[in-house]
Amino acid sequence: MPLKLKTKDKHIKKLAEIVNGPKSILYLKEDLLAYDCDGFTIHRHMPKAVVFPKNTEEVAAIVKYCASHNLPFLARGAGTGLSGGAIPINEEVIISLVRMKRLVHVDLENRRAVVEPGFVNLKLTNSISEKGYYYAPDPSSQYCCTIGGNVAENAGGAHCLKYGVTTNHILGLEVVLPNGEIIEISSDGIPDAPGYDLLGLLTGSEGTLGIVTKITVRILKNPEAKQTVLAYFDKVSDGSYAVSDIISAGIVPAALEMMDKIAIEGVEAASFPVGHPKDIAALLLIEVDGIEAGIDEQIKEILEVCKKRNVREVKVAQNEQERARWWANRKTGFGAMGAISPDYLVQDGVIPRSKLPEVLERINQVSEEVGLRIANIFHAGDGNLHPLVLFDSRKPGETEKALKAGTACLKACADVGGSITGEHGVGIEKMEEMRFVFNEEEIQAQTAIREVFNPKNLLNAGKIFPSPGRCVEIKKEMKATSVKSEEKLLEFS
Ligand SMILES: Cc1cc2nc3c(=O)[nH]c(=O)nc-3n(C[C@H](O)[C@H](O)[C@H](O)COP(=O)(O)OP(=O)(O)OC[C@H]3O[C@@H](n4cnc5c(N)ncnc54)[C@H](O)[C@@H]3O)c2cc1C
Repeated sequence: MPLKLKTKDKHIKKLAEIVNGPKSILYLKEDLLAYDCDGFTIHRHMPKAVVFPKNTEEVAAIVKYCASHNLPFLARGAGTGLSGGAIPINEEVIISLVRMKRLVHVDLENRRAVVEPGFVNLKLTNSISEKGYYYAPDPSSQYCCTIGGNVAENAGGAHCLKYGVTTNHILGLEVVLPNGEIIEISSDGIPDAPGYDLLGLLTGSEGTLGIVTKITVRILKNPEAKQTVLAYFDKVSDGSYAVSDIISAGIVPAALEMMDKIAIEGVEAASFPVGHPKDIAALLLIEVDGIEAGIDEQIKEILEVCKKRNVREVKVAQNEQERARWWANRKTGFGAMGAISPDYLVQDGVIPRSKLPEVLERINQVSEEVGLRIANIFHAGDGNLHPLVLFDSRKPGETEKALKAGTACLKACADVGGSITGEHGVGIEKMEEMRFVFNEEEIQAQTAIREVFNPKNLLNAGKIFPSPGRCVEIKKEMKATSVKSEEKLLEFS
Protein backbone atom coordinates (compact mmCIF):
# COMPACT_ATOMS: atom_id res chain seq x y z
CA MET A 1 0.00 0.00 0.00
CA PRO A 2 1.49 3.42 -0.92
CA LEU A 3 2.44 5.57 2.07
CA LYS A 4 0.30 8.61 2.80
CA LEU A 5 2.68 11.54 3.17
CA LYS A 6 2.02 15.28 2.95
CA THR A 7 5.01 15.87 0.70
CA LYS A 8 6.18 15.36 -2.83
CA ASP A 9 9.84 15.22 -1.83
CA LYS A 10 11.20 11.99 -3.30
CA HIS A 11 13.92 11.63 -0.68
CA ILE A 12 11.45 11.86 2.18
CA LYS A 13 9.21 9.30 0.51
CA LYS A 14 12.12 6.91 0.09
CA LEU A 15 13.34 7.41 3.66
CA ALA A 16 9.81 6.78 4.94
CA GLU A 17 9.80 3.50 3.03
CA ILE A 18 13.10 2.46 4.62
CA VAL A 19 11.78 3.03 8.15
CA ASN A 20 8.48 1.39 7.29
CA GLY A 21 5.94 4.11 7.40
CA PRO A 22 4.91 7.67 8.15
CA LYS A 23 5.07 7.21 11.94
CA SER A 24 8.83 6.82 11.77
CA ILE A 25 9.64 10.05 9.97
CA LEU A 26 9.08 13.76 10.63
CA TYR A 27 9.30 16.23 7.77
CA LEU A 28 6.73 19.00 8.41
CA LYS A 29 8.13 22.32 9.62
CA GLU A 30 6.10 22.31 12.84
CA ASP A 31 7.43 18.84 13.74
CA LEU A 32 11.02 19.65 12.84
CA LEU A 33 11.15 22.70 15.11
CA ALA A 34 11.93 20.52 18.11
CA TYR A 35 15.09 19.32 16.35
CA ASP A 36 16.59 22.67 15.36
CA CYS A 37 19.08 22.62 18.25
CA ASP A 38 20.35 20.51 21.13
CA GLY A 39 21.34 21.76 24.60
CA PHE A 40 23.36 24.52 22.90
CA THR A 41 20.33 26.66 22.17
CA ILE A 42 22.06 29.79 20.92
CA HIS A 43 22.34 28.41 17.42
CA ARG A 44 19.41 26.86 15.53
CA HIS A 45 18.97 25.17 12.15
CA MET A 46 16.14 23.14 10.65
CA PRO A 47 16.84 19.56 9.52
CA LYS A 48 15.54 18.17 6.26
CA ALA A 49 13.78 15.35 8.10
CA VAL A 50 14.06 13.22 11.23
CA VAL A 51 13.95 9.45 10.83
CA PHE A 52 13.48 6.92 13.62
CA PRO A 53 15.07 3.58 12.67
CA LYS A 54 14.28 0.52 14.80
CA ASN A 55 17.40 -1.52 14.12
CA THR A 56 20.91 -1.47 12.70
CA GLU A 57 19.79 -2.61 9.26
CA GLU A 58 17.45 0.37 8.96
CA VAL A 59 20.24 2.74 10.07
CA ALA A 60 22.53 1.24 7.44
CA ALA A 61 19.88 1.53 4.74
CA ILE A 62 19.22 5.21 5.60
CA VAL A 63 22.93 5.95 5.56
CA LYS A 64 23.42 4.16 2.22
CA TYR A 65 20.54 6.10 0.73
CA CYS A 66 21.87 9.44 2.02
CA ALA A 67 25.41 8.64 0.87
CA SER A 68 24.32 7.68 -2.63
CA HIS A 69 22.18 10.83 -2.98
CA ASN A 70 24.65 13.22 -1.36
CA LEU A 71 22.25 14.07 1.45
CA PRO A 72 24.00 15.28 4.63
CA PHE A 73 23.01 13.30 7.73
CA LEU A 74 23.78 13.04 11.43
CA ALA A 75 22.95 10.91 14.47
CA ARG A 76 20.97 12.17 17.43
CA GLY A 77 20.36 10.65 20.86
CA ALA A 78 18.45 12.62 23.49
CA GLY A 79 19.69 16.00 22.22
CA THR A 80 21.19 17.02 25.57
CA GLY A 81 24.60 17.77 24.05
CA LEU A 82 25.88 21.18 25.12
CA SER A 83 28.19 22.02 22.22
CA GLY A 84 25.82 21.84 19.25
CA GLY A 85 26.98 18.43 17.96
CA ALA A 86 23.45 17.38 16.96
CA ILE A 87 22.49 20.69 15.34
CA PRO A 88 21.73 20.17 11.62
CA ILE A 89 23.80 23.07 10.27
CA ASN A 90 23.76 21.59 6.74
CA GLU A 91 20.03 20.79 6.71
CA GLU A 92 20.88 17.19 7.57
CA VAL A 93 18.60 14.19 7.71
CA ILE A 94 18.65 13.49 11.45
CA ILE A 95 18.88 9.81 12.32
CA SER A 96 17.31 9.65 15.78
CA LEU A 97 18.36 6.57 17.74
CA VAL A 98 15.71 6.91 20.46
CA ARG A 99 13.68 3.91 19.28
CA MET A 100 16.76 1.68 19.49
CA LYS A 101 16.58 1.54 23.28
CA ARG A 102 16.84 -2.12 24.27
CA LEU A 103 19.01 -3.54 26.99
CA VAL A 104 20.18 -6.41 24.78
CA HIS A 105 22.11 -8.55 27.20
CA VAL A 106 23.56 -8.53 30.71
CA ASP A 107 26.47 -10.81 31.58
CA LEU A 108 27.08 -10.39 35.30
CA GLU A 109 29.68 -13.13 35.39
CA ASN A 110 31.88 -11.25 32.95
CA ARG A 111 30.68 -7.86 34.15
CA ARG A 112 29.44 -6.53 30.87
CA ALA A 113 26.20 -5.43 29.27
CA VAL A 114 25.15 -4.81 25.69
CA VAL A 115 22.81 -1.91 24.96
CA GLU A 116 21.34 -0.21 21.94
CA PRO A 117 22.44 3.42 21.47
CA GLY A 118 19.14 4.99 22.55
CA PHE A 119 19.24 3.27 25.94
CA VAL A 120 19.16 5.95 28.65
CA ASN A 121 22.27 6.02 30.85
CA LEU A 122 20.60 5.81 34.27
CA LYS A 123 18.36 2.92 33.21
CA LEU A 124 21.40 0.69 33.01
CA THR A 125 22.29 1.15 36.67
CA ASN A 126 18.61 0.91 37.60
CA SER A 127 18.34 -2.39 35.72
CA ILE A 128 21.24 -4.07 37.51
CA SER A 129 21.42 -2.37 40.91
CA GLU A 130 19.30 -4.98 42.69
CA LYS A 131 21.87 -7.57 41.71
CA GLY A 132 24.62 -5.41 43.20
CA TYR A 133 26.07 -3.86 40.01
CA TYR A 134 26.16 -0.43 38.35
CA TYR A 135 27.39 1.47 35.32
CA ALA A 136 29.95 4.05 36.45
CA PRO A 137 29.89 7.01 34.00
CA ASP A 138 27.22 9.28 35.44
CA PRO A 139 26.77 12.56 33.56
CA SER A 140 24.41 14.88 35.42
CA SER A 141 22.03 14.43 32.47
CA GLN A 142 22.01 10.66 33.05
CA TYR A 143 18.26 10.51 33.68
CA CYS A 144 17.67 11.30 29.99
CA CYS A 145 20.87 11.21 27.87
CA THR A 146 21.59 8.10 25.83
CA ILE A 147 24.59 5.79 26.01
CA GLY A 148 25.07 6.31 22.24
CA GLY A 149 25.38 10.06 22.88
CA ASN A 150 27.73 9.35 25.81
CA VAL A 151 30.00 7.31 23.54
CA ALA A 152 30.00 10.06 20.90
CA GLU A 153 30.90 12.73 23.47
CA ASN A 154 33.04 10.51 25.72
CA ALA A 155 30.84 11.75 28.54
CA GLY A 156 32.15 12.24 32.04
CA GLY A 157 30.34 12.72 35.33
CA ALA A 158 30.73 13.24 39.03
CA HIS A 159 32.03 9.72 39.71
CA CYS A 160 34.49 9.70 36.81
CA LEU A 161 37.28 11.05 39.03
CA LYS A 162 37.93 7.58 40.46
CA TYR A 163 36.36 5.36 37.81
CA GLY A 164 37.24 7.08 34.52
CA VAL A 165 35.10 8.56 31.75
CA THR A 166 33.01 6.70 29.16
CA THR A 167 35.98 5.52 27.10
CA ASN A 168 37.26 3.54 30.10
CA HIS A 169 34.01 1.55 30.17
CA ILE A 170 33.50 0.68 26.49
CA LEU A 171 34.41 -2.87 25.47
CA GLY A 172 32.88 -3.04 22.02
CA LEU A 173 30.89 -1.12 19.45
CA GLU A 174 28.79 -1.90 16.43
CA VAL A 175 29.07 1.02 14.04
CA VAL A 176 27.46 1.99 10.74
CA LEU A 177 30.16 3.72 8.73
CA PRO A 178 29.31 6.78 6.60
CA ASN A 179 29.01 4.55 3.49
CA GLY A 180 26.46 2.27 5.18
CA GLU A 181 28.82 -0.59 5.96
CA ILE A 182 28.26 -2.22 9.36
CA ILE A 183 31.39 -3.01 11.39
CA GLU A 184 32.08 -4.36 14.85
CA ILE A 185 35.04 -3.29 16.92
CA SER A 186 35.93 -4.84 20.20
CA SER A 187 38.79 -5.03 22.63
CA ASP A 188 37.45 -8.41 23.84
CA GLY A 189 38.36 -7.15 27.27
CA ILE A 190 42.08 -7.45 26.45
CA PRO A 191 43.89 -4.55 28.16
CA ASP A 192 46.44 -4.09 25.35
CA ALA A 193 44.71 -5.50 22.28
CA PRO A 194 46.87 -5.60 19.13
CA GLY A 195 46.27 -3.10 16.33
CA TYR A 196 45.05 0.47 16.44
CA ASP A 197 42.76 1.51 19.28
CA LEU A 198 39.68 2.06 17.15
CA LEU A 199 37.38 1.94 20.17
CA GLY A 200 39.33 4.85 21.62
CA LEU A 201 39.16 6.72 18.31
CA LEU A 202 35.42 6.26 17.87
CA THR A 203 34.65 7.16 21.48
CA GLY A 204 34.57 10.93 21.68
CA SER A 205 34.52 11.45 17.90
CA GLU A 206 31.28 13.43 18.30
CA GLY A 207 29.35 11.50 15.69
CA THR A 208 31.70 12.42 12.83
CA LEU A 209 33.20 8.98 12.08
CA GLY A 210 30.22 6.63 12.21
CA ILE A 211 26.86 5.93 13.84
CA VAL A 212 27.03 3.70 16.88
CA THR A 213 24.25 1.09 16.84
CA LYS A 214 25.26 -1.27 19.66
CA ILE A 215 27.51 -0.84 22.67
CA THR A 216 29.16 -3.33 25.00
CA VAL A 217 29.94 -1.66 28.31
CA ARG A 218 31.79 -2.65 31.44
CA ILE A 219 29.68 -2.87 34.58
CA LEU A 220 31.03 -2.70 38.10
CA LYS A 221 30.19 -4.31 41.42
CA ASN A 222 28.63 -1.87 43.89
CA PRO A 223 31.20 -0.66 46.41
CA GLU A 224 30.86 -2.23 49.84
CA ALA A 225 30.57 1.16 51.55
CA LYS A 226 30.13 4.84 50.71
CA GLN A 227 30.27 8.06 52.68
CA THR A 228 29.46 11.56 51.55
CA VAL A 229 30.69 14.85 52.99
CA LEU A 230 29.43 18.39 52.50
CA ALA A 231 31.92 21.17 53.36
CA TYR A 232 31.13 24.90 53.42
CA PHE A 233 33.86 27.52 52.88
CA ASP A 234 33.93 31.31 53.35
CA LYS A 235 36.57 31.72 50.66
CA VAL A 236 36.59 30.09 47.20
CA SER A 237 40.38 29.82 47.40
CA ASP A 238 40.18 27.77 50.63
CA GLY A 239 37.76 25.34 48.95
CA SER A 240 40.03 25.12 45.88
CA TYR A 241 43.14 24.43 47.95
CA ALA A 242 41.23 21.77 49.90
CA VAL A 243 40.57 19.97 46.58
CA SER A 244 44.30 19.76 45.79
CA ASP A 245 45.16 18.86 49.38
CA ILE A 246 42.72 15.93 49.45
CA ILE A 247 44.25 14.41 46.33
CA SER A 248 47.81 15.17 47.48
CA ALA A 249 47.02 13.33 50.72
CA GLY A 250 46.71 10.19 48.57
CA ILE A 251 42.92 9.95 48.78
CA VAL A 252 41.08 9.36 45.51
CA PRO A 253 37.46 10.23 46.25
CA ALA A 254 34.80 8.68 44.05
CA ALA A 255 33.58 12.24 43.49
CA LEU A 256 34.81 15.70 44.42
CA GLU A 257 32.45 18.44 43.28
CA MET A 258 32.40 22.17 43.89
CA MET A 259 29.75 24.91 43.66
CA ASP A 260 30.30 28.61 44.21
CA LYS A 261 28.00 31.23 45.75
CA ILE A 262 25.99 32.02 42.59
CA ALA A 263 25.56 28.33 41.83
CA ILE A 264 24.34 27.75 45.38
CA GLU A 265 21.85 30.61 44.97
CA GLY A 266 20.55 28.78 41.87
CA VAL A 267 20.25 25.28 43.33
CA GLU A 268 18.60 26.59 46.47
CA ALA A 269 16.03 28.49 44.38
CA ALA A 270 15.20 25.42 42.24
CA SER A 271 13.50 22.07 42.76
CA PHE A 272 15.92 20.30 45.15
CA PRO A 273 17.02 22.80 47.84
CA VAL A 274 18.88 21.30 50.79
CA GLY A 275 19.26 24.42 52.92
CA HIS A 276 22.88 25.39 52.15
CA PRO A 277 23.80 28.63 53.96
CA LYS A 278 23.29 31.53 51.54
CA ASP A 279 26.35 33.49 52.67
CA ILE A 280 29.08 30.89 51.99
CA ALA A 281 31.51 31.39 49.10
CA ALA A 282 31.79 27.75 48.03
CA LEU A 283 30.88 24.20 48.94
CA LEU A 284 32.52 20.87 48.28
CA LEU A 285 30.55 17.65 47.88
CA ILE A 286 32.95 14.79 48.48
CA GLU A 287 32.20 11.07 48.26
CA VAL A 288 34.50 8.20 49.14
CA ASP A 289 33.72 4.56 48.48
CA GLY A 290 35.39 1.15 48.66
CA ILE A 291 35.74 -1.56 51.23
CA GLU A 292 34.12 -0.82 54.60
CA ALA A 293 37.38 -1.04 56.54
CA GLY A 294 39.15 2.01 55.09
CA ILE A 295 36.27 4.45 54.73
CA ASP A 296 36.20 6.00 58.20
CA GLU A 297 39.93 6.66 58.03
CA GLN A 298 39.55 8.47 54.67
CA ILE A 299 36.68 10.58 56.01
CA LYS A 300 38.79 11.54 59.02
CA GLU A 301 41.62 12.69 56.74
CA ILE A 302 39.23 14.68 54.55
CA LEU A 303 37.76 16.44 57.58
CA GLU A 304 41.27 17.33 58.74
CA VAL A 305 42.21 18.78 55.35
CA CYS A 306 39.02 20.85 55.32
CA LYS A 307 39.73 22.13 58.83
CA LYS A 308 43.23 23.15 57.80
CA ARG A 309 41.66 25.10 54.95
CA ASN A 310 39.36 27.02 57.31
CA VAL A 311 36.13 25.17 56.57
CA ARG A 312 33.15 26.90 58.22
CA GLU A 313 31.03 23.79 58.59
CA VAL A 314 31.34 20.20 57.51
CA LYS A 315 28.79 17.38 57.68
CA VAL A 316 28.71 13.70 56.81
CA ALA A 317 25.49 12.32 55.29
CA GLN A 318 23.62 10.41 57.98
CA ASN A 319 21.69 8.11 55.67
CA GLU A 320 21.00 7.26 52.03
CA GLN A 321 18.09 9.73 51.83
CA GLU A 322 20.30 12.62 52.89
CA ARG A 323 23.04 11.57 50.46
CA ALA A 324 20.49 11.30 47.63
CA ARG A 325 19.14 14.80 48.44
CA TRP A 326 22.63 16.31 48.27
CA TRP A 327 23.28 14.62 44.93
CA ALA A 328 19.93 15.65 43.44
CA ASN A 329 20.75 19.22 44.46
CA ARG A 330 24.13 18.99 42.68
CA LYS A 331 23.08 17.00 39.63
CA THR A 332 20.26 19.33 38.65
CA GLY A 333 22.60 22.29 39.06
CA PHE A 334 22.73 23.40 35.40
CA GLY A 335 18.96 23.46 35.00
CA ALA A 336 18.67 25.23 38.37
CA MET A 337 20.28 28.29 36.79
CA GLY A 338 16.92 28.80 35.08
CA ALA A 339 15.57 29.77 38.51
CA ILE A 340 17.85 32.80 38.70
CA SER A 341 18.47 33.75 35.07
CA PRO A 342 16.42 33.72 31.84
CA ASP A 343 19.36 32.18 29.90
CA TYR A 344 22.69 30.58 30.70
CA LEU A 345 25.62 29.36 28.65
CA VAL A 346 27.44 26.28 29.98
CA GLN A 347 31.19 26.22 29.43
CA ASP A 348 33.44 23.22 29.86
CA GLY A 349 37.15 23.86 30.33
CA VAL A 350 39.65 21.61 32.03
CA ILE A 351 42.74 22.60 33.98
CA PRO A 352 45.42 21.08 36.18
CA ARG A 353 43.84 20.88 39.65
CA SER A 354 46.58 22.98 41.21
CA LYS A 355 45.52 25.93 39.00
CA LEU A 356 41.95 26.05 40.36
CA PRO A 357 42.39 29.18 42.55
CA GLU A 358 44.12 31.12 39.74
CA VAL A 359 41.58 30.23 37.04
CA LEU A 360 38.54 30.79 39.27
CA GLU A 361 39.94 34.25 40.02
CA ARG A 362 40.36 34.90 36.27
CA ILE A 363 36.74 33.79 35.65
CA ASN A 364 35.71 36.31 38.29
CA GLN A 365 37.56 39.03 36.40
CA VAL A 366 35.91 37.99 33.10
CA SER A 367 32.54 38.29 34.81
CA GLU A 368 33.36 41.85 35.91
CA GLU A 369 34.75 42.77 32.48
CA VAL A 370 31.64 41.66 30.57
CA GLY A 371 29.17 42.68 33.27
CA LEU A 372 27.48 39.24 33.50
CA ARG A 373 27.27 36.93 36.49
CA ILE A 374 29.15 33.63 36.13
CA ALA A 375 28.25 30.68 38.34
CA ASN A 376 30.63 27.74 38.78
CA ILE A 377 29.45 24.16 39.28
CA PHE A 378 32.09 21.62 38.49
CA HIS A 379 33.96 18.36 38.83
CA ALA A 380 36.73 19.94 40.92
CA GLY A 381 38.68 16.73 41.47
CA ASP A 382 39.14 16.36 37.71
CA GLY A 383 39.86 20.05 37.22
CA ASN A 384 36.84 20.04 34.89
CA LEU A 385 35.30 23.50 35.18
CA HIS A 386 31.78 24.51 34.17
CA PRO A 387 31.47 28.27 34.23
CA LEU A 388 27.79 29.07 33.65
CA VAL A 389 27.42 32.50 32.11
CA LEU A 390 24.06 33.99 33.10
CA PHE A 391 22.45 36.31 30.58
CA ASP A 392 19.18 37.52 29.11
CA SER A 393 18.93 36.96 25.37
CA ARG A 394 16.06 39.48 25.19
CA LYS A 395 18.48 42.28 26.08
CA PRO A 396 20.38 43.52 23.02
CA GLY A 397 24.03 42.53 23.10
CA GLU A 398 23.85 40.10 26.04
CA THR A 399 24.13 36.93 23.95
CA GLU A 400 27.27 38.32 22.35
CA LYS A 401 28.68 39.20 25.74
CA ALA A 402 27.92 35.72 27.07
CA LEU A 403 29.72 34.07 24.14
CA LYS A 404 32.70 36.36 24.61
CA ALA A 405 32.80 35.53 28.30
CA GLY A 406 32.67 31.81 27.48
CA THR A 407 35.58 32.15 25.08
CA ALA A 408 37.59 34.12 27.63
CA CYS A 409 37.02 31.39 30.26
CA LEU A 410 38.29 28.75 27.83
CA LYS A 411 41.34 30.88 27.00
CA ALA A 412 42.07 31.09 30.73
CA CYS A 413 41.99 27.28 30.89
CA ALA A 414 44.24 26.86 27.85
CA ASP A 415 46.69 29.45 29.18
CA VAL A 416 47.44 27.41 32.31
CA GLY A 417 48.08 24.22 30.34
CA GLY A 418 44.48 22.99 30.36
CA SER A 419 42.06 22.47 27.51
CA ILE A 420 38.83 23.77 26.03
CA THR A 421 36.62 20.79 26.80
CA GLY A 422 36.60 18.23 29.55
CA GLU A 423 33.47 16.30 28.59
CA HIS A 424 30.92 18.27 26.53
CA GLY A 425 32.79 18.10 23.24
CA VAL A 426 33.62 20.80 20.71
CA GLY A 427 30.63 20.55 18.36
CA ILE A 428 30.08 23.88 16.63
CA GLU A 429 30.46 25.83 19.82
CA LYS A 430 34.19 25.65 20.36
CA MET A 431 35.61 25.06 16.88
CA GLU A 432 37.45 28.35 16.76
CA GLU A 433 38.71 27.83 20.33
CA MET A 434 40.41 24.61 19.14
CA ARG A 435 43.15 26.99 18.00
CA PHE A 436 43.92 27.72 21.66
CA VAL A 437 45.20 24.14 22.02
CA PHE A 438 46.12 22.92 18.49
CA ASN A 439 48.18 24.50 15.74
CA GLU A 440 47.16 24.32 12.07
CA GLU A 441 49.17 21.13 11.38
CA GLU A 442 47.61 19.34 14.33
CA ILE A 443 44.15 20.33 13.16
CA GLN A 444 44.90 19.16 9.62
CA ALA A 445 46.23 15.82 10.91
CA GLN A 446 42.97 15.20 12.74
CA THR A 447 40.76 16.18 9.82
CA ALA A 448 42.80 13.72 7.73
CA ILE A 449 41.62 10.96 10.09
CA ARG A 450 38.03 12.10 9.64
CA GLU A 451 38.46 11.87 5.86
CA VAL A 452 39.48 8.20 6.10
CA PHE A 453 36.16 7.31 7.73
CA ASN A 454 33.98 10.03 6.25
CA PRO A 455 35.51 10.86 2.84
CA LYS A 456 32.40 12.53 1.40
CA ASN A 457 32.00 14.50 4.64
CA LEU A 458 28.25 13.95 4.62
CA LEU A 459 28.14 12.74 8.24
CA ASN A 460 27.94 15.61 10.73
CA ALA A 461 30.07 17.93 8.60
CA GLY A 462 31.35 21.28 9.82
CA LYS A 463 31.81 20.17 13.43
CA ILE A 464 34.81 20.02 15.80
CA PHE A 465 37.57 21.39 13.56
CA PRO A 466 37.91 24.96 12.33
CA SER A 467 38.38 24.44 8.62
CA PRO A 468 38.98 27.60 6.62
CA GLY A 469 35.76 29.53 6.25
CA ARG A 470 33.19 27.11 7.63
CA CYS A 471 33.43 27.78 11.31
CA VAL A 472 33.85 31.51 10.92
CA GLU A 473 30.69 31.49 8.79
CA ILE A 474 28.76 29.68 11.49
CA LYS A 475 29.93 32.05 14.15
CA LYS A 476 28.83 34.95 11.97
CA GLU A 477 25.40 33.37 11.77
CA MET A 478 25.32 33.35 15.54
CA LYS A 479 25.56 37.14 15.22
CA ALA A 480 27.64 37.02 18.30
CA THR A 481 31.09 35.93 17.36
CA SER A 482 31.76 37.44 14.00
CA VAL A 483 35.29 38.22 15.09
CA LYS A 484 37.78 35.45 15.73
CA SER A 485 38.29 34.38 19.32
CA GLU A 486 41.80 35.81 19.45
CA GLU A 487 40.49 39.16 18.32
CA LYS A 488 37.70 38.99 20.85
CA LEU A 489 40.17 38.29 23.57
CA LEU A 490 42.08 41.43 22.78
CA GLU A 491 39.09 43.27 24.13
CA PHE A 492 39.68 41.67 27.51
CA SER A 493 43.39 42.33 27.69
C1 LIG B 1 21.60 19.37 32.45
C2 LIG B 1 22.75 18.75 31.70
C3 LIG B 1 23.79 18.19 32.42
C4 LIG B 1 24.86 17.60 31.75
N1 LIG B 1 25.87 17.03 32.47
C5 LIG B 1 26.87 16.40 31.84
C6 LIG B 1 27.93 15.77 32.59
O1 LIG B 1 27.94 15.75 33.82
N2 LIG B 1 28.90 15.16 31.88
C7 LIG B 1 28.92 15.14 30.52
O2 LIG B 1 29.83 14.57 29.93
N3 LIG B 1 27.94 15.73 29.79
C8 LIG B 1 26.93 16.35 30.40
N4 LIG B 1 25.94 16.95 29.67
C9 LIG B 1 26.01 16.94 28.19
C10 LIG B 1 25.27 15.78 27.50
O3 LIG B 1 24.23 15.26 28.31
C11 LIG B 1 26.24 14.67 27.10
O4 LIG B 1 27.15 15.16 26.14
C12 LIG B 1 25.58 13.40 26.55
O5 LIG B 1 26.57 12.43 26.34
C13 LIG B 1 24.81 13.63 25.25
O6 LIG B 1 23.98 12.51 25.02
P1 LIG B 1 22.69 12.62 24.09
O7 LIG B 1 22.05 11.30 24.01
O8 LIG B 1 21.82 13.72 24.55
O9 LIG B 1 23.37 13.00 22.70
P2 LIG B 1 22.97 14.11 21.64
O10 LIG B 1 22.97 15.46 22.26
O11 LIG B 1 21.74 13.69 20.92
O12 LIG B 1 24.19 14.01 20.64
C14 LIG B 1 25.47 14.43 21.04
C15 LIG B 1 26.47 14.12 19.93
O13 LIG B 1 26.58 12.72 19.79
C16 LIG B 1 26.28 12.31 18.46
N5 LIG B 1 25.55 11.05 18.60
C17 LIG B 1 24.44 10.80 19.34
N6 LIG B 1 24.11 9.50 19.26
C18 LIG B 1 25.04 8.92 18.46
C19 LIG B 1 25.25 7.59 18.00
N7 LIG B 1 24.45 6.59 18.33
N8 LIG B 1 26.30 7.36 17.18
C20 LIG B 1 27.15 8.37 16.82
N9 LIG B 1 26.99 9.63 17.23
C21 LIG B 1 25.96 9.89 18.04
C22 LIG B 1 25.46 13.44 17.87
O14 LIG B 1 25.61 13.49 16.46
C23 LIG B 1 26.08 14.64 18.56
O15 LIG B 1 27.23 15.03 17.88
C24 LIG B 1 24.87 17.57 30.32
C25 LIG B 1 23.81 18.12 29.62
C26 LIG B 1 22.76 18.71 30.28
C27 LIG B 1 21.63 19.30 29.48
